[in-house]
Parts: sequence; structure tokens; C-alpha cells
Amino acid sequence: MPELPEVETIKRGLSKFIINKKLTQTDILCEKSFIGTPVMGVVKSIRRYGKALIIDLSDDVSLMIHLRMTGQLIYDGTTKRYAAGHPSENFVATLPNKQTRVILKFDDGGVLYFNDQRKFGFIKALPTQEVENDTFIKKLAPEPWNMGPNDFYERLMRHKNSCIKATILDQSVVCGLGNIYADEALFMSHIHPERKCGEITAKEAKILLESARAVMDRSIDSGGSTMATYVKADGTRGDYLEKFAQVFRREGKPCPNCGTKIIKIRVAGRGTHICPCCQKKEGSK
Ligand SMILES: [Zn+2]
Repeated sequence: MPELPEVETIKRGLSKFIINKKLTQTDILCEKSFIGTPVMGVVKSIRRYGKALIIDLSDDVSLMIHLRMTGQLIYDGTTKRYAAGHPSENFVATLPNKQTRVILKFDDGGVLYFNDQRKFGFIKALPTQEVENDTFIKKLAPEPWNMGPNDFYERLMRHKNSCIKATILDQSVVCGLGNIYADEALFMSHIHPERKCGEITAKEAKILLESARAVMDRSIDSGGSTMATYVKADGTRGDYLEKFAQVFRREGKPCPNCGTKIIKIRVAGRGTHICPCCQKKEGSK
């Protein structure tokens, strides 16, 4: 699964290629992969809600794209190919091929292929004004950049008896934190992932929110995570983990703060990486 920073990277990359191009034809090779009636129009903007990409066209119609596990967007321009999503030989293969589900054709000869080996992803056509009311998007909480510290703290306090890691992974509490970013944000905040939300102070919540923004900003700047097997828009891999991860997948290595060995535990059913010295269950007080 891509995490939010990977989808943001795809959004920024794809924008360079299809903004102001006119979508003139849609070929649906797999019925399951396209919901609604094909639409046409000039690409006005590309937006992102959580991990959903929205391509807004003229005439107030939009395409919502969910890549899910194995979705790929591969744009074949007249001079250059741009590939993003689950990396595979499709990035350099002759297209369409047997994993191609939808083909979007533009008036300048450019073609955007939606490939999806496992068919969990899809493209949905809908009126632009209905995008924000779509059931998937409606249930998403604001992202860390669009949420104030008091709002975040109040949201945590609604889950007083839940552990903090499970709560920040809940997309209806805060949108965008996956497993990697939750571990990194909790480490940066010196908060043990098993602490109950009810024990988190307003000050800690503020630090955690700021840390969540910081870890995802840094990931977007470096092009998304390598571990998630997502690649950048131009087909090269992001180097997030090597450049930046402090605890994630670093068990046995020294904590960058204190030198204690990082350990891997299980929290809320997820592999979780912590420094047992910097992140104490009883808090830092
Ligand atoms: Zn430490």
C-alpha cells in the first residue's frame, strides 16, 4: 500500500504531464476497474484526499483514482514516459499489456495507462461537486497540516482507553499516518506507542502533531518511502528510509538520540519500532 507521502509524490509528478491536456477517450479493458460513465475534458487540477487522487476536468467532472495494493499510473507522452505506483516491469514494458485496466487518451497523443495486477484499485468518474461527499472521502479526518493542536488533542481524548498508536493510525481521527509515519512521529515525540490516549497531555499531543507533519514533509521532500515499494513519478525510487528513518526497520541499531538498541514490538497488531529508553510507557515526566 502506498502511504500518503507516496501518493502526494505521484500527484506532483503527474501534474507536470497532464495539466491543461484534454482527455478525449477512455478505453475500459476491465469493467471492475472503472466506476461510472467515461468523461472528457481539459485537466484543470490534480488533488489528493488521503490516498485518493482526484483529476478535475473542465465541465465540472472529476476522476477519482485509488491505487490500492498494486495500482500503477503510467503516462506515455510523445517524448517521455512517466511511471508511478507499485513498481514492476510494466514501467518499461510495452503497453497496454495484460495488467492494463483503463486507458485514458489525451488530445496531444499522450496516453495514461492504469495498470492493476490484483484489481483492488479503481477509477471512478463523478461530478466535481460530489467529490467531497464521496463515502470514502467523507469519512477521512483532516490531515495533520489541516488540524490544530487543540482539535488533535480533543480527538485523542475521544479514545481515552485506546493506545496512542492505534488511534493515530485511525484515518477517522487523523488522516494520512500509516505504520512507518506513526512509528517515526511517536519516536520523534518520545511517546511510547502503547500509552493510553487518556494519559497523553495537551503538550505531548501538540508535539506529536508537529512531529507527524515533520516526518511526512521530509518523506515528500525525499520522494516517498522505499520500503512501501512505491517509486517516484519519473520511475526512480525514493530514498526515504535510508535518508531519514530513525526507528522504522532499524531494530538492533543504536537510537540516534541515546545509543540504546532499537527494539521491535507488536502494538495494535502492527510491527512497531521504538527506543525503549527515549519512549517510556509511564511518559517522560
Ligand atoms: Zn533513545
